[in-house]
Amino acid sequence: MTLEEIQAAEAKLLLSTYERNPIHFVSGEGVYLVDEKGNRYLDLLSGIGVNALGYGHTTIEKAILEQSRKLIHTSNLFFHEGQAELALRLTQASGLDRAFFSNSGTEAMEAALKLARAHAGLLRSEGRTIGTKFLALEHSFHGRTMGAVATTHKAKYREPFAPVMGDVEFVAFNSVSDLNEKFSTDVCAIVLEVIQGEGGIRMVSREFFEVARALTQSTGALLIVDEIQAGFGRTGKWFAYQNYDVLPDVTTVAKPLAGGLPLGAMLCTEEAARAIHPGMHGTTFGGGPLACAVAIAVFDEMEKTRLLEHVTEVGTYFTRRLHELQAKHPAIVEVRGKGLMLAAELDSAELAKDVLNAMLERRILINRTSETVLRFLPPYILKREHVDAAADALDEILTERAPQTAGAANEGGTNIG
Ligand SMILES: *Cc1c(COP(=O)(O)O)cnc(C)c1O
Repeated sequence: MTLEEIQAAEAKLLLSTYERNPIHFVSGEGVYLVDEKGNRYLDLLSGIGVNALGYGHTTIEKAILEQSRKLIHTSNLFFHEGQAELALRLTQASGLDRAFFSNSGTEAMEAALKLARAHAGLLRSEGRTIGTKFLALEHSFHGRTMGAVATTHKAKYREPFAPVMGDVEFVAFNSVSDLNEKFSTDVCAIVLEVIQGEGGIRMVSREFFEVARALTQSTGALLIVDEIQAGFGRTGKWFAYQNYDVLPDVTTVAKPLAGGLPLGAMLCTEEAARAIHPGMHGTTFGGGPLACAVAIAVFDEMEKTRLLEHVTEVGTYFTRRLHELQAKHPAIVEVRGKGLMLAAELDSAELAKDVLNAMLERRILINRTSETVLRFLPPYILKREHVDAAADALDEILTERAPQTAGAANEGGTNIG
């Protein structure tokens, strides 16, 4: 089928949930994607933070091939060796004690939210005073299912589906006073991303994070950190909270965990895990042999190639190049992020849209979030030369679009007036 035929068929046959870019990728290699005409694209988005090892990685192909020849699915009614081994790796990397495996990020969040409600119930049965309310943050994104979406801030994701899960209140981002005001013994958990992804690569402040930790500790409520986008190496640490030395009670991971296969995990403390007994929660597909085998292979590869250090090194370089662009182009109002979870915020949504399209014309894939924010979530295997290609393209595109004020016209560079 040609791209036009696919577009026409989808327009008639699919629920219209997506506004796709008119590109049809058929293969990939390293940090490049290839469309059906053979054009190569530099991918700085990696399937929304999923393809950490890039495309066509032999480690992933080998793990899929070997495990699929043995066993793809058994259900959670029987044992296989993948879950315990992957749980061991994840608990060691996270500092938490137990794991529950799901297929997606939002399901890992559902597990975390249900755990918080069940844990509060357990504490009440033991005579403690603790309620059922969740505190989440403004600009948060936690997923699309009825519980996760209830803790997601943007009204357009929640309101058409009302009533979503109740008992959620939103706290102004990084406002310690608002957090102190809204926290009480009614709260069973505070839910936050240490670096908000969809919300525009906003980092929670150390003070806010530490206060959230102290408040939850004071009542027995859980601190749930959503690491679905920021976790599993993206910031140069296994978990983004490790940049702060704050250990949550619960964390969720998914996107890069199984090198492109669907897999999520909810990790928690022994204390929180007391609330869950057989039959209370589960999944048919979650943590299947194939996804677990691939995730273990990704873990091995990341350790073998010291990929966390590489993410820090290339991420630092990328950040420096973005700061250089900011110094030159007033249209860049802020550069944010950590490791290879980076953003350049522009001064208008129109410009951001325009830049995104101009990058696409140059066959470089980036993403726009929160209207004005250019978001970069490249594969962890990105090299400096790819950063240079992207930064040089951005430089040219922004220079072409710089307001032609007196003195700056046709100079292509300085634009200080
Ligand atoms: C993507 C994302 C989710 C949802 O994950 P899905 O796999 O799409 O369900 C939740 N939280 C954060 C921070 C995310 O980036």
